[in-house]
Amino acid sequence: LVSRDNHPERSTVRVGGVPIGPGTLTLIAGPCAVETPEQTLAAARMAEAAGATLLRGGAYKPRTSPYAFQGLGEEGLRILADVRAETGLPIVTEVVDAHDVELVASYADMLQVGTRNAQNFALLQAVGSVGRPVMLKRGMNATIEEWLMAAEYIAQRGNLDIVLCERGIRTFETATRNTLDISAVPVAQRLSHLPVIVDPSHSGGRRDLVLPLTRSAIAAGADGVIIDVHPHPEQALCDGPQALVDDDLAELAGIMRDFPPLM
Ligand code: PEP
Repeated sequence: LVSRDNHPERSTVRVGGVPIGPGTLTLIAGPCAVETPEQTLAAARMAEAAGATLLRGGAYKPRTSPYAFQGLGEEGLRILADVRAETGLPIVTEVVDAHDVELVASYADMLQVGTRNAQNFALLQAVGSVGRPVMLKRGMNATIEEWLMAAEYIAQRGNLDIVLCERGIRTFETATRNTLDISAVPVAQRLSHLPVIVDPSHSGGRRDLVLPLTRSAIAAGADGVIIDVHPHPEQALCDGPQALVDDDLAELAGIMRDFPPLM
């Protein structure tokens, strides 16, 4: 269902009216985690300033350590909905448990499946059944074939509104959190008709790499990027070191403007 063999035209997925696909270059930005109403609104304003048309923000955070901040849950979803009402930005947010899919879908414009759940087949089937677009991150240990098969689980339930997101894979390299597999962009676009975006924030895990990786993603033909921003990264409860700050926004906006998207 997701293969390009039977569907030669590349697809566009619409999220609350915002297109992601060939001929567009969509910026999704926002905080890694929803922490407070003020922090989320401030991050959404930063996202807008950089040209984002979709707001990201995690209410359910799948953390490596059980002692780390796990997200605000439904309270975080309510904050996101308030910020959408204030800014008009549709929401992209992660769901980590099949039992929460209907709840998260009742707030979200797009559901995100993260790298740690990329082969959680029960979750993939549940998000495929709920009638919302899905952003499927690549598992950090998944081949491109495994990633596309994970998308197939969603599609098989009748939902073809899937956006693939390359977010780095685990390699021997320790200088970055994960290694952004830039070749995954054209490879996945040739194998599948689905849009392919890149997460330069979670792959590198470092603020100083986000803009160079964004440039490389766009040059490789990505249909969009998803980027963390935070008004006070030094106080962030999640992934502060990779969040862009106010000073970076003009440069990010310039990158998004200057690189024409490939078809
Ligand atoms: C995220 O985008 O909030 C996230 C946790 O990303 P990943 O699943 O790629 O680590």
